[in-house]
Amino acid sequence: MNLNAFFKITYGLYIVTSKNDEIINGHISNTVFQVTAEPPQFAVCTNKDNLTTDLIKQSGVFAVSIIEQDVDINYIGHFGFKSGKDFNKFQDVNYKIGKTGAPIVLDKTAAYFECEVVQKYDVGSHIIFIGKVIESEIINESKIPLTYNHYRNVIKGVSPKNSPTYIDKSKLEHEKTENKSENKSGKMYKCTVCGYVYEPEVGDAEQHIKPGTAFEDLPDNWICPVCGATKDMFEELR
Ligand code: FE
Repeated sequence: MNLNAFFKITYGLYIVTSKNDEIINGHISNTVFQVTAEPPQFAVCTNKDNLTTDLIKQSGVFAVSIIEQDVDINYIGHFGFKSGKDFNKFQDVNYKIGKTGAPIVLDKTAAYFECEVVQKYDVGSHIIFIGKVIESEIINESKIPLTYNHYRNVIKGVSPKNSPTYIDKSKLEHEKTENKSENKSGKMYKCTVCGYVYEPEVGDAEQHIKPGTAFEDLPDNWICPVCGATKDMFEELR
């Protein structure tokens, strides 16, 4: 089996959100698809460990924001690589509460829809929820929806462990190597969780790391600016 074939499947990227009586949450998903036209129904597939999965089970509703292409990896990281169990992802994010009561992310969103769950299927690590569409709206007609291919090949993102499309890199036959692994300030290091690359020449302004700081000289408490992974989760680019 050649796992690289899996990367040839096309997907979009979405923020799937839900709520219960106390909290709201959401995460990045690429497994959102329409299953019937009449009535219009959509399926989403979410990991049992994700907070949003519990919220969908509790409330029976979810919303989906279709992410626009003009987005950076930090935005994906905010919703995709951090857990709503640790912080409120909606702080500093433009959103509204929809007809179903689910939160709808409006930032970087081309369009959205809201669903009421009509069926769910346990598929092992994940649950597939089928939802009947209650509401849908275009936020920005001019925006191109982000595809998984663009995310992987242009934004250089990867799938996190909880994603249905996560692939263990060590199992790939021909893992692509980056075309540059070093610049004049030292070797580049890649986060094995989210794919962010630390470039010594650039540093990390948010964490007050000056340009020209080698990875080895980063303080021990430095973390991946995208997903929050610690330094030991980085590997040298070769
Ligand atoms: Fe990371």
